[in-house]
Amino acid sequence: MAPRCWRWWHWLGWPRIRPPSASNSTNSGFYRHFSAQKNPQICVVGSGPAGFYTAQHLLKHHTQAHVDIYEKQLVPFGLVRFGVAPDHPENVINTFTQTARSDRCAFRGNVMVGKDVTVPELQGAYHAVVLSYGAEDHRRLEIPGEELPGVCSARAFVGWYNGLPENRELAPDLSCDTAVILGQGNVALDVARILLTPHEHLEKTDITEAALGVLRQSQVKTVWIVGRRGPLQVAFTIKELREMIHLPGTRPILDPADFLGLQDRIKEVPRPRKRLMELLLQTATEKPGAGAARQALATRAWGLRFFRSPQQVLPSPDGRRAAGIRLAVTRLEGVGEATQAVPTGDTEDLPCGLVLSSVGYKSRPIDPSVPFDSKLGIIPNVEGRVVDVPGLYCSGWVKRGPTGVITTTMTDSFLTSQMLLQDLKAGLLPSGPRPGFTAIQALLSSRGVRPVSFSDWEKLDAEEVSRGQGAGKPREKLVDPHEMLRLLGH
Ligand code: NAP
Repeated sequence: MAPRCWRWWHWLGWPRIRPPSASNSTNSGFYRHFSAQKNPQICVVGSGPAGFYTAQHLLKHHTQAHVDIYEKQLVPFGLVRFGVAPDHPENVINTFTQTARSDRCAFRGNVMVGKDVTVPELQGAYHAVVLSYGAEDHRRLEIPGEELPGVCSARAFVGWYNGLPENRELAPDLSCDTAVILGQGNVALDVARILLTPHEHLEKTDITEAALGVLRQSQVKTVWIVGRRGPLQVAFTIKELREMIHLPGTRPILDPADFLGLQDRIKEVPRPRKRLMELLLQTATEKPGAGAARQALATRAWGLRFFRSPQQVLPSPDGRRAAGIRLAVTRLEGVGEATQAVPTGDTEDLPCGLVLSSVGYKSRPIDPSVPFDSKLGIIPNVEGRVVDVPGLYCSGWVKRGPTGVITTTMTDSFLTSQMLLQDLKAGLLPSGPRPGFTAIQALLSSRGVRPVSFSDWEKLDAEEVSRGQGAGKPREKLVDPHEMLRLLGH
């Protein structure tokens, strides 16, 4: 049930009756029932980059605030642990660990908000709630054959090689010669790189041993990365492209015809894109030279296929699995950001044994009480303040959609935290003490849910590091929640 002051606020029709701005609110009688809370209890839902950056900023800028970070997994760090490619280790974990070790912060793992505890229950226990739970789902292709074995989302594939418990059984069949990745973003390049990287290079990363075992047996020789638009519209960035170009044992396949006229058009584009285009052009039109010997030795290849939109996954003759993909040939209409791929009416069939759809991630609604824009896949908000729900905030991908790198999420999360602190200062959040975790713990315990703490994670962390040592890996990730709980004596 909503706290009393909330109901009162809703009854007044907030936010149609706009609250006075933070700067003049202190003189207003409107908020005389609210005063700046000295020891605010705040909770953050989600322990990925958005959650940790929000918590970090709150703790730094309010020296009395206490922040609980709720997480459905047994382990923290979200996409930093489960989304970033194993050959791209991130050092932000050290910063997040410092935040979690603060005596004003607590990690509450193994708690699924929306199931084990509702958002209104959290709102009743805390002065403010920040939803930072990211994008747990993938966008669907919505084409026939998408459900066939041999088709999977890049998100699940990434989760599998990174040890995400829900994807540990994926076991992709890599006995085919050709894989097709649909979409030309950085996730597509991550997946292509992992499929083609010599396994001896992956052996020193924290990729799971199970994934490594499957990749060692892989028969995949060619990976096509397919985009519905042209080279000028690719979503990946130059660093990731450069890595592909220099991937040992592989050669790129680019059709120079796709790049005709591009040289002139890239003069007008912003510098980072211009540099990316120059690298693509150079790779597509390179004459045999210094790289020729290396390329001649290449046993694997990756190619960028442009102006092709997925139309249907083609079944094998027995109909049991994917055997190819039918692509609609496209042309571009419109200019700049509005450039769209329009089917020409022609199609092309590309035989393959594995189809990975990498057309973007998607957030899910967390709780019926929280507004959700299912078209945009975000929680409607103004600078992180959830529309129509005072005291509720959001940050990261669930706030702005699944785009941007970790630093984008950092800036975005700091901004949400600033808005929350402004509201707190202006007396817009409930006054009086709030029980925080004490109340939630009682609820969870009555429901048979046992949260895990950050020191529990540190035990699991030590176990992972020790298991990795023998193999020269930074860690061997634990992927089975039952085993993790057993190790914790739960
Ligand atoms: P993304 O960057 O949004 O790329 C999605 C790709 O899918 C685009 O090429 C898009 O083409 C295509 N697409 C979307 N809908 C489609 C459809 N219906 N049919 C065919 N193609 C479709 O998404 P992402 O690769 O999942 O990455 C998410 C974010 O994480 C990005 O901001 C990315 O930079 C970031 N990330 C960064 C790194 C890194 O820094 N190394 C690694 C991984 C992810 P259109 O442009 O035509 O829509």
